This record gives sequence, C-alpha cells and structure tokens, in this order.
Amino acid sequence: MGIGHLSFEFFPPKTSEGAAKLAAARQRLYAHEPEFCSVTFGAGGSTQEGTLQTVRAIQAEGMTAAPHLSCVGASRTSVAQLLQLYRDEGIRRIVALRGDLPSGYGLGGEFHHASDLVTFIREQTGDAFHIEVAAYPEMHPQARSPQDDLTHFAQKMRAGANSAITQYFFNADAYFHFRDEAFAAGIEAPIVPGIMPITSASQLLRFSDMCGAEVPRWIRLRLQSFGDDRASITAFGREVVATLCERLLRGGAPGLHVYTLNQAEPALALLEDLGTR
Ligand code: FAD
Repeated sequence: MGIGHLSFEFFPPKTSEGAAKLAAARQRLYAHEPEFCSVTFGAGGSTQEGTLQTVRAIQAEGMTAAPHLSCVGASRTSVAQLLQLYRDEGIRRIVALRGDLPSGYGLGGEFHHASDLVTFIREQTGDAFHIEVAAYPEMHPQARSPQDDLTHFAQKMRAGANSAITQYFFNADAYFHFRDEAFAAGIEAPIVPGIMPITSASQLLRFSDMCGAEVPRWIRLRLQSFGDDRASITAFGREVVATLCERLLRGGAPGLHVYTLNQAEPALALLEDLGTR
C-alpha cells in the first residue's frame, strides 16, 4: 500500500560511535525517500549542539532536515539566534515545541506554550520555515480535558503552523477522533500520525507512562508474557504496528512519521510489511 508522507525522527547521538551508527542507519532509511528527517532537542538547550551537528549531517547528505526546537526556559534572544543559525544552514523546516523542563524547574522563560513559539517564529522569520507542531490524540498529560487540549492545539495551528505530528498511540480510533474534531474546529492542515515501533517491552512501557501514551491492556499483557524473549516481542510488535499503520492509512491518515530511536531495522521492517499489504 502507498504511504504518502513519510518522515523519520532521530535523536542527537551522544558518542562518536553512536553518530557512526546513526549515519549508517540514515543511509538505509534514505532509500525510502523521506520528505524530511527530524532531530529532537533537549529542553533547556541541553542537546542544542548535538541537534545542530545532526541536522548539518543530514543536509550535507542531500536530505531535508527538521530540527526540533523547544522553547520552555528559553529567551526570545536565544531563540532568535538559533533561528538565524538554522536559516544560515539552509534549514527550511522546524518542529516547534514547548518541551518539558526537569521536574522542580517550573515553566520559566519567555515562552509558555508552543503557540508562543510559533507566533514568534512567524514574527521573526515570516514564511522562511515550514512549521510542524505536536498533537496528542490521547490528550497531552497536563491538559485539563480533551476539549481544552483541542482548543489549544487549534490555537497553535492558527498561530501559523503548517502541519502536525502526533504523539505515538496504539489506538487508531483515538487518532481518527482527534483528526475529525480538529477538522470540525477548522483545522485542515495535515496531522501525521507519529509511529513508535515496538522493540522492547520494558522501554516502551516506561516511556509510555512518562508521555501519556496508552499501551492497551492486551498489548501490555502479551509483551509482559514474553519476558526476555526478544524475538517474540519483535515479531508481535511488528505485526501490531503494521496493522495499526494499515488502518491509519486506509482511514485517510496523510502518511507516517516514524520514531526510529536511531535504529533502521524496525522502520525498514514496517515499511516492508506495508509494501506487501
Ligand atoms: P503545548 O502545545 O504548549 O501544550 C502543552 C500543554 O499546555 C498542553 O496540555 C496544552 O493543552 C496546554 N496549553 C497550550 N496552550 C495553552 C494556553 N494558551 N493556555 C493554557 N494551556 C495551554 N520534547 C522535547 O523536549 N524535545 C523534543 O525534541 C520533542 N519532540 C517532540 C516531538 C513530537 C512529535 C511530540 C508529540 C512531542 C515532542 N516532545 C519533545 C515532547 C513535548 O515537548 C512535550 O509533550 C511537552 O510537554 C509539550 O510540548 P507541546 O509543544 O505539545 O506544548
């Protein structure tokens, strides 16, 4: 089946060995001609240099890189400087986020919500960047209600975002509901599902608790029952995620954004599975 929009997400490697492994993974993924490759950014600028190095490498490989930019704790001056740096590097796409500071740090700085950052980017740079923002089909964990969260999402889009990427989820109906409600609220821009391949039970369960993504009971129980049997986890996870993506695409999702965790294999397996369906 056709996939439509395809993009991959990486995080900045911490070691030269990690950078070499990521460079090799990227080459394998490029065969699928992604629209862009995004690179995460630690809140408070903790990975700023790593994000910049990685987007430079991607651009130098002839691909479109999209740095994530989280604004919590940042000043307008520092964000303006970073935007200028990215423009000078030929970057034309940005994933604009609020980010999270470590607990106890509150939400200081000159930006309070991602919508403030989107507004600022448009004020400073006009149409220089295609702006992506985050969406939460299962609700952002700090939102008071799904309705509130949708209202804030719509504000963020109206502030000047071009498209959105979702937090990962395993329940296709949550995505369809969110997309339809956003559309009813006047948001016609693409909302691309973020897809998390399943390769490790403990990592997935820990991660999901942190970011408010629900791992359905039947998936959780199956994963736990496999214990340390990695082959069974991978085979089961592969089937679950390919079936989810198939449903999403058949239901009109505009494409897929794959959280690669810097590994080529799970994303390639997914694309191979979709190719045969
Ligand atoms: P916002 O859109 O600002 O929303 C955050 C919360 O504030 C929501 O509950 C929302 O309902 C509420 N809110 C928004 N506007 C208002 C308002 N006007 N009044 C009251 N409440 C409001 N984090 C990183 O640190 N680095 C990354 O690289 C990174 N990449 C990500 C990529 C994707 C695709 C996704 C989905 C998430 C990513 N994150 C990243 C995580 C993200 O930073 C966190 O989820 C963060 O808690 C929220 O960021 P946001 O941009 O969605 O915030």
